[in-house]
Amino acid sequence: MSRDVVTVIKSVNYSEADKVLTVFGRERGKFTLFAKGIRKINSKNRGNVQTLSTSKISFYEGKGMPLLTESELVQILDFDNIHVENIRRVLFLLNHFLQEYDAYPKLFDALQSAIKKGLDLESVNRLRLIFLREMGFLVDFNHCKYCNSSENIGYLDGKDFALVCENCYSIYKAKYLGESPYNSKIFTDALDRYIKKIVEEI
Ligand SMILES: [Zn+2]
Repeated sequence: MSRDVVTVIKSVNYSEADKVLTVFGRERGKFTLFAKGIRKINSKNRGNVQTLSTSKISFYEGKGMPLLTESELVQILDFDNIHVENIRRVLFLLNHFLQEYDAYPKLFDALQSAIKKGLDLESVNRLRLIFLREMGFLVDFNHCKYCNSSENIGYLDGKDFALVCENCYSIYKAKYLGESPYNSKIFTDALDRYIKKIVEEI
């Protein structure tokens, strides 16, 4: 029997009582899992397969798709108090960027902290930056794009998602990110656009 801690990132109903789950495992990375009988009312795993819930699982690997045998809930997302758009942002990343059986434990842990914080905008944007960095789509995010300074880099060049310093921003029309950059609309919109652009290119 194999084990992992996994977060459900997609769940599709199959026949009458089953589901095919796409999960992000800390050790295994993204993979699909067959959850037989999971939709039956007396299934003990039933409550543990909600999207963005995390469980310790055991699964059987034979021929074909791995088969879920046991699950124990670790944490669940409180859907009532969440901005739908933030859920969409996180699922978009997980479903588009992760490759099957490519493990990213650091990303997995960052995802868990973001879920713990209820996927508020700041934690979602921080998670997205970690994601892009881990995947190699964001080489540097600590220096001004134009002069390479690391001082006063509170401005953003939205076009290719790069930071710009106080001395360069007016020449290149970069926008000020404000006191709370990770919560700013400029930052969020630019990140949305940048991620969409990457997905279109890969
Ligand atoms: Zn500069």
